[in-house]
Amino acid sequence: MRPETIAIQSTRFTDTNAASVVAPLYLSTTFERNEEYELPHGFLYTRAHNPNRQQLESALATLEGGALALAFSSGQAATMTVFQCLQPGDHVIVPDDAYYGTPLLLQDLFSRWGLHFSRVDTSQAEAISQAIRPETKVVWLETPSNPLLKVADLEVVARLCRERGVLTVCDNTWATPILQRPLLLGCDVVMHSTTKYLGGHSDVLGGALVFREDGPLAQRARMVQTLGGAVPSPFDSWMISRGIKTLAVRVRQQSANAQQLAEFLAAHPAIERVHYPGLPSDPGYAVARRQMELPGGMLSVRVAGGAVEALRLAGRLRLFARATSLGGVESLIEHRASAEGPTSQSPPNLLRVSVGLEHAEDLIADLAQALEPA
Ligand SMILES: *Cc1c(COP(=O)(O)O)cnc(C)c1O
Repeated sequence: MRPETIAIQSTRFTDTNAASVVAPLYLSTTFERNEEYELPHGFLYTRAHNPNRQQLESALATLEGGALALAFSSGQAATMTVFQCLQPGDHVIVPDDAYYGTPLLLQDLFSRWGLHFSRVDTSQAEAISQAIRPETKVVWLETPSNPLLKVADLEVVARLCRERGVLTVCDNTWATPILQRPLLLGCDVVMHSTTKYLGGHSDVLGGALVFREDGPLAQRARMVQTLGGAVPSPFDSWMISRGIKTLAVRVRQQSANAQQLAEFLAAHPAIERVHYPGLPSDPGYAVARRQMELPGGMLSVRVAGGAVEALRLAGRLRLFARATSLGGVESLIEHRASAEGPTSQSPPNLLRVSVGLEHAEDLIADLAQALEPA
């Protein structure tokens, strides 16, 4: 089956009570045993298993082509679970350009538990190879990366890491399993912030890990999930499953819109540079074409004239909400350096755009009016 069909089929539910087409919501935290003191459906207590969460997890595993998926209460809880599976003294490689919270977890939380990390340009396989140490356990990838949309070659990096006995984990939040399937390219684990495209409507927080194999790592992560309890509620699981049903059409249209916006902005004299792997001039273009179905709905622009001009542009837009996050149906624009604070590495003239499902020509008209000289 193709992803559109998987998205609909895997979120269907067999309801033996009322034969409802849409999944019922199981708010019960506890499940009854029969006279033989068995659990008739295997459900015991909601922190361990819940029918709505189980449905979401099986949909995520199928979509990514994995053996097993675990759902979490946020993307950060999912990321944290990977690090909690490691030992003191282990070393992790993270991209020099990545979601701000990922290296922050390593720096502010896990350094106290003895994890070490290096930041590497993961769009250069050679740089990864040189940064691997005997104690390196995980190479964390994020492609396209946040906010510079650098592209890592998943197949090349996964092969290189396998030869060195290092696990590859890919944050696939931006691409989604519709545009990119890292497990099929050799990665070991996929991480998602389901808050973004999978939920798709900016109204639910969640995260996930999907494992290529149901081995010791997946079982350890499952223990962290159920023992630690950073699980999504039944309603959050239901909401994310509902979002997944329309994922393919949303993401393809958002990518088509982003392509149009990127081409318009790249040709505009007030824009210094557009970061978007769908532009032939972009350094990630060739690899993205090979490993992604489409370049995706995210892009970043660097505005000529620095932070002042970037903030002026954001301030004059009418159709784009000036807000953080991404992947919802509405277009968002964000000055990453302001969001990340004084330790930010984002260029001060950079604006990150999450392109929504409005008509591309309306969005371009709005950008054109906002870019007019003062
Ligand atoms: C938002 C995001 C995260 C963190 O997810 P939360 O759901 O906010 O905890 C991680 N990675 C990427 C790429 C993200 O966009």
